[in-house]
Amino acid sequence: MLINYVTSFDSSKISKTDLKLASNQLWDILLPYLSYFSNKDLETIQLAFMQMANAHDTQKRKSGEFYIIHPVFATIVLANLKVDLYTICACLMHDVPEDTNVTLEDLSKIFDNQTVLLIQGVTKLSNIRYKGEDRYAENLRKMFVAISNDVRVVLIKLADRCHNLSTLQYLREDKQKRIAVESLEIYSPIAERLGISVLQNAIEELSFKYVYPELYNEFSADAKIEINRRQKQLELVLELTKKQLTEKKIPFVKVYGRAKKYYSIFRKIYDRDKSIDQLQDLVAVRIITETVEEAYLVLAELKNFFVPLADRYKDYITNPKPNGYQSIHLNVTLPEEYTSGISPNPFELQIRTKEMHEFAEYGVAAHFAYKASRKKTAITEFLRGENLKWVKELVEIGNTTKDHKEYLLKVKLDLFRDRIFVLTPKNDVIDLPLGSSVLDFAYRIHEDIGNKASIGILNQKPVKLYTKLKSGDKVEIVTQKNQKPTADWLNWVVSKHSKSCIKSYLKYN
Ligand code: MN
Repeated sequence: MLINYVTSFDSSKISKTDLKLASNQLWDILLPYLSYFSNKDLETIQLAFMQMANAHDTQKRKSGEFYIIHPVFATIVLANLKVDLYTICACLMHDVPEDTNVTLEDLSKIFDNQTVLLIQGVTKLSNIRYKGEDRYAENLRKMFVAISNDVRVVLIKLADRCHNLSTLQYLREDKQKRIAVESLEIYSPIAERLGISVLQNAIEELSFKYVYPELYNEFSADAKIEINRRQKQLELVLELTKKQLTEKKIPFVKVYGRAKKYYSIFRKIYDRDKSIDQLQDLVAVRIITETVEEAYLVLAELKNFFVPLADRYKDYITNPKPNGYQSIHLNVTLPEEYTSGISPNPFELQIRTKEMHEFAEYGVAAHFAYKASRKKTAITEFLRGENLKWVKELVEIGNTTKDHKEYLLKVKLDLFRDRIFVLTPKNDVIDLPLGSSVLDFAYRIHEDIGNKASIGILNQKPVKLYTKLKSGDKVEIVTQKNQKPTADWLNWVVSKHSKSCIKSYLKYN
């Protein structure tokens, strides 16, 4: 729901010439999302809205629209997450001190201290004067300091980024690319580590086409076809699941289907060299229950009814993921009697409680939800436990590591666990899928370097092309004019990109 909304902000009906009208239109759009607030809180929010509208006045976005559209749409993203009053007010005014004549001090005369501190946090984050690599490292340092001070600052920053990404088409091409890359490299992993998958998905979907334009077109077309192809079976599976659980009187809250997002399909295919039709979790059936006991009852019943695939069972309820994610995943196919005339595809069952589901979608944001539901044990435990220790560690790394490149490398190591980061002779950081070889590195630098690679120099020692790399390695490629790829090379690489380069060489030479 949110994803569809986040990736399709529609501002076409908002006036571009009459500020008063635009402001009224925006308030009308925002109001329904605020229905979880009391009338008294709504008055405070309206005050923040008016302060914001007055401050930005007739400022325009690159799109030619009034600036005030931006904070309002960012706020809607957060209202979908049902964040608290302070976060809503701060999000509405997040660009005021930075971009207008109204200062934080002015705002502190009107608004609660908490709101002002949040705005200050966001302002600090955008107030970065560094250039190039330094700017990037500095940005990260500040992000982690901000998260460790108050996670809500980062929620605002993520919402801000979602809306900015949705209007990238109005920026210069090089800027588009820079912002989109930064979003995939920093914002999306942070959202992931905080467990806010709705924002992670939105950021990834919005950035994908700018970072990998050709691949995006190719993948989204393929994925659309494959998802549609599986839709029919999904409907049958949904129906059978509901029928079976109802007949056996096993209680559940909701059963529904979900399709994997394009960017995560792309990552799986690209990193693990799979094709779309090999992905078992392309479409999944979610079963939401009230209690943990019921989740296991559902599991037992459906395991029995469908045909489970060997080794495709994961119990993240007993063993949560590092970001707190809890769910049972089980890959199954349809029983034989339902598969006549169709080729059955494996699909994934995801079984979890309501509370786990909320946490899976909103992550730490669920903790700040305005009206916390009676039981938020998992989330509170998550925050109280060791789970946000990584933030503190990253702040610590930032304090002790002065060299920007070294800092970036350390942070990336920590944020991305299924990738490795190696250095070129010029100390540029290159990221590769886990298990990559020297030859993968060569192809990643350039197709011609890959095709002509003869040996690698790994941490100053000569090595064979199939040598596996690990994070922190420094790699150099020695090329030879007469070198050419052979069929053996296909066994020496893991990335899709390397394989397709080698295959196309073998085919055309
Ligand atoms: Mn902004």
